[in-house]
Amino acid sequence: MTVPQDAGCLFCRIARRELPAKILFETAELVAFEDIRPKAPVHVLVIPKLHFASLNDAPDGSERLIGELLHAARRAAREKGVAATGYRVVLNTGRDSGQEVPHLHFHVIGGRPLSWPPG
Ligand code: AMP
Ligand code: ZN
Repeated sequence: MTVPQDAGCLFCRIARRELPAKILFETAELVAFEDIRPKAPVHVLVIPKLHFASLNDAPDGSERLIGELLHAARRAAREKGVAATGYRVVLNTGRDSGQEVPHLHFHVIGGRPLSWPPG
């Protein structure tokens, strides 16, 4: 799996520490950081260091990495204290989802009751 970073991408720049972010934790493959405009008391983003514009662009061979991202989402929920009360992991993909940042990211949202279905 050969995936270059995108020099101008906002989240690639956060992953490279070129832009500031409140980083919760980091591994060799991913970064978890606070969303700058939190939609709930807990709102963490989990991103791969490799650049995939969206889930649609995650190449064959990225299955393990995507699993790592989900485990990191669970870790973020634990570390933010919402594992027991509940949380939502969201992966917006494409126009109709409202995806704004074209670098694959899981949202981890919790700390209050969340309505369903989403708008
Ligand atoms: P999405 O709509 O799924 O693409 O979500 C993008 C998310 O990135 C939004 O929740 C934004 O608040 C968040 N965001 C945008 N810029 C930054 C930034 N510089 N640092 C942290 N979060 C950001
Ligand atoms: Zn990127």
